[in-house]
This record gives sequence, C-alpha cells and structure tokens, in this order.
Amino acid sequence: MDDSSGSTGFVASAIGVYLRAKAERDGPKPTVLGFGMRASGSGGCARQLAFAAAGVPDCHFPDEVSGLAMHQGNSGHEIAQQGLAHVLEDFEAEVPVTLTHLGFTVSGSADGAGTMGCKRHPSGQSRAVFEFKYKGAFPYKLARESGPEQKEVVQAAIYALGLGIRRVFVAYFARESSYMDKITLCESMEWTFYLDDLFGDTGQTLEQLAYDELHRMQAVWEQAQGNLIPARNIPGHGLVSAPVGYGAKRGKPWNCRYCRVRDYCADLPSEQVPVAEAPLVVRESWLAEVPVEVAP
Ligand code: SF4
Repeated sequence: MDDSSGSTGFVASAIGVYLRAKAERDGPKPTVLGFGMRASGSGGCARQLAFAAAGVPDCHFPDEVSGLAMHQGNSGHEIAQQGLAHVLEDFEAEVPVTLTHLGFTVSGSADGAGTMGCKRHPSGQSRAVFEFKYKGAFPYKLARESGPEQKEVVQAAIYALGLGIRRVFVAYFARESSYMDKITLCESMEWTFYLDDLFGDTGQTLEQLAYDELHRMQAVWEQAQGNLIPARNIPGHGLVSAPVGYGAKRGKPWNCRYCRVRDYCADLPSEQVPVAEAPLVVRESWLAEVPVEVAP
C-alpha cells in the first residue's frame, strides 16, 4: 500500500480538476432562445437568475463529489428517457420549449413529452410533460411525506404552457440510500398534476402558479436588461441579509451554499444595485455575450 491508501486522493482530485476545466471551457449551457431566462430557474433566487441570464461566469465550480452526483443524475435522465421512448409511441426527449408567444423571454428543455392513458380525457389519453429529479435522502423523505417541491412542479407546468399541454408528470429518484428512512438507492415516486387543478394548499391552480413564476422571471430579465442586479430575493425565504459561504455544510438559505456566483453576490448590498457597482468581472461580462433580443 502507498500513502494514498484509504483516503480521498489522486483519482478524486483528477475528477475535480477535469470538471473545473470542462466548466471553464464549455461555459454555461446556452438557452433554447440563446438569451433570456431558463425555465429550470423556477423558484430560484432572483439575483442568481439574473447573473445566469446576463452570462456572468461562475466563480465557484462543483467539486468531485457534486460533479459525480450530477453525472449520476444525467445518466439517470437518459435511462428514464430511453424507457419512456420504448413504451410510448410518440415520446420525445429533451423537448425545446419557448414561452415568447405568451409574452415571456423564457425557454428551456422539458425532459420529455408523450401521450399516455388519461382518465379525464374523453379519448382516454392525453399528452403529458415529464420531469425527472434526482434527490438526496432528506428531500426524498420530505417528498414522500408531502409531495414534490412546488417549484419543480411549476417548472414542468411552465414547459406544459409553452407546449400547449395540460398535464405534467413528475418523477423523483433517490440518489442515495438511507437505512433510517428506509430509502433504497434509485427507488422512485411519481405524481401527475393537471394545470387546471388547485395545487396543494396554495389556493391557486397550477396554471396560475406557473404564470406567477413567469411574471417573476420576466421582471428579473427586465432588470438584467436595464443593467440592474436584482435584490437577493429567494421565494419562500425573502431577502437574504448575508449569504452563507459556498460549500458550507449548514446555514440558511441553502441556495447560497450551492450558488456559483456567491462571492460576487456577497460583495454587493442585499437590495437592487446597478451593474456599475459590481465587481469588474461582473461588469465586463454582463450581457456581453447575449444576442440582442428580437421581438417575436
Ligand atoms: S449567494 Fe444566495 S442570495 Fe446571492 S445570488 Fe446566490 S443564492 Fe442568491
């Protein structure tokens, strides 16, 4: 045995170095529109969404542990898509979605869309948008008790609005086991929602919640275009007074612990601030690579 036996070492750090180089080389994944907001940002921090939409490069990169978890999630998406393509005649994976025809500069890719049995539709079938999520043991356990996260169902509903579909199908897969919570790696749960139904105890239909989120995203995009950095505002949390450090094990809101622009954000006040007051890299990159928006 040599010095590295039994400890995190050469292989893990090679993965970390590779992931960082890949992230720097590839940059952020382009949106379907090539500009604007990503539907996958549903429920996210307004400032974080604006940094992403403005094309500000990350200042933090995933380490080997989170990089491997992401890789596992991507492979899981592929096998779920292959399974659905095998059993549903018209299933399409990675369906591009734009919302410009509804007045929102928002786009994204639905994990899938396809026609399946439906008790509500007179034909006995309806089209559904599919969204898959890979969850750690704790959020998986929460979902088992109280259903999927609202922001993720709303994300799927936004895709559905863009595609003219009225039904969403959300599947959660466990990406870790928990003996205590009786969770087995890769077990799954799934839920169907209709856009016309009231969602949980919100008192609103899923369609209304999706439109509310689209209006919030559009307001963020308009601030970005006006060279304004939005306040640090996270739905369900409110204004963040001081972001927790990137990679911290504890601290609320959790969003900041995983936020790849955390240090740029932390240099600024909590409220809305002009881009001119941001760190140099933010000023130089703000909307620099974003094509000019063309009216639909
Ligand atoms: S550090 Fe926190 S408050 Fe700041 S942009 Fe990221 S998620 Fe938002």
